[in-house]
Amino acid sequence: MAITDKIYVKNHRQLASQLETSFPKSAFSGATLDILFTGDGIAKLDDASRDRVLDFAEDFLDCDCQGHPHCGCPERKFISYLLELRAQGLGPEAIVDVMGDDYMLYAYPGDVLSFLDDAVRTLEAAERLADVDDREKAGEAIGTRRRELSR
Ligand SMILES: [Zn+2]
Repeated sequence: MAITDKIYVKNHRQLASQLETSFPKSAFSGATLDILFTGDGIAKLDDASRDRVLDFAEDFLDCDCQGHPHCGCPERKFISYLLELRAQGLGPEAIVDVMGDDYMLYAYPGDVLSFLDDAVRTLEAAERLADVDDREKAGEAIGTRRRELSR
């Protein structure tokens, strides 16, 4: 399972009752993207929740793909967001706190930790491949990124 399958909406029950409909707890579920983040119901949410929901939609659901918001862009952008927080030096618990403040989302720190470990391992493998291929510049760029993520 991808990390984006393990990102959940905080106050899920409260939001569902404000929207007078149900949607899955998982933030990147197709139905959640439709109902909570791109639905007409946003106006029914209390101010604080609405601001977070709109911020999420602006930051991750702003593409013009035909399949929007089921095109994969939201997931890709959210993964970049997580990696960016990590590159700023945040650990899994702090990352979970920040996504809560920013977008009213939560995840289990252990899931975030394994996602970050996997990301570093993927970069290590790419770095080795670049070395084998004698692509020094690419290898260096990947190495820089890897070090940012493994501080
Ligand atoms: Zn898209």
